[in-house]
Amino acid sequence: KLVSREFKREDTLIRMGDQVIGGKEIHLIAGPCAVEDKVQFLEIAHAVKEAGATFLRGGVYKPRTSPYSFQGLAEEGLAILHEARAQTGLLIVTEVMDPRLVPLVASCADILQIGARNMQNFPLLREVASVDKPILLKRGPAAEIEEWLMAAEYLLLGGNSKVILCERGVKTFERFTRNTLDLSAVPVLQRLSHLPVFVDPSHGTGKWWLVPPMSKAAVAAGADGLLLEVHPSPCDALSDGQQSLTPENFRALVGEVKKVAEAV
Ligand code: PEP
Ligand code: MN
Repeated sequence: KLVSREFKREDTLIRMGDQVIGGKEIHLIAGPCAVEDKVQFLEIAHAVKEAGATFLRGGVYKPRTSPYSFQGLAEEGLAILHEARAQTGLLIVTEVMDPRLVPLVASCADILQIGARNMQNFPLLREVASVDKPILLKRGPAAEIEEWLMAAEYLLLGGNSKVILCERGVKTFERFTRNTLDLSAVPVLQRLSHLPVFVDPSHGTGKWWLVPPMSKAAVAAGADGLLLEVHPSPCDALSDGQQSLTPENFRALVGEVKKVAEAV
């Protein structure tokens, strides 16, 4: 298998500008669940950059459970992402859900996110595989590690080897947390595969106050980066407010995570 350690012994390094993903540096992808409006997003963009984020996230096509919930700003949101990158220099991570929209989203994103619900959307995987941009492939809500690696295999086989795996929790019997964050997936994946591994403790726990301890645990377990939801006013967020850090909490977390990173 192209994703396996047997096929390729050395870690895959993804170079983007002066950033290297999968190397010594821990990467922090931060930003709101969804781009809600221009003023809000630019404010968060500057705040997370100042606090130490290396990438900026924001969904403009949102996979919402209810069709009545906010679905994202679509093309209007893409323009806001573009503006935020121009103002801050941060590289953009955003989700693409529809194979037909891959060229449009890729024209604006630096890293294309495949959401958990689409991990096994094979036509979508085939489409993003043909794009020359890194792909952040989230673990399906009920996916085994082998299934997840085989989804990544579609991308490598399709010609894109710049794949980042992102653990974001799986469904279990436990209801206290939104998902059960499987941190053992980090060393398991690093044993089985050469691809970089990120962790998303925001969706993984569903609770903002669990994000700092699980971020530190993820880095201690060897994660190459974290994906963190940040919102200036979590109570007013149009999606995932309860798991979003304020910019102040994010700043504090960056300091704590750096200490753990130095120790591992
Ligand atoms: C997200 O990152 O906003 C998201 C929808 O995540 P997931 O696909 O992991 O639920
Ligand atoms: Mn979210």
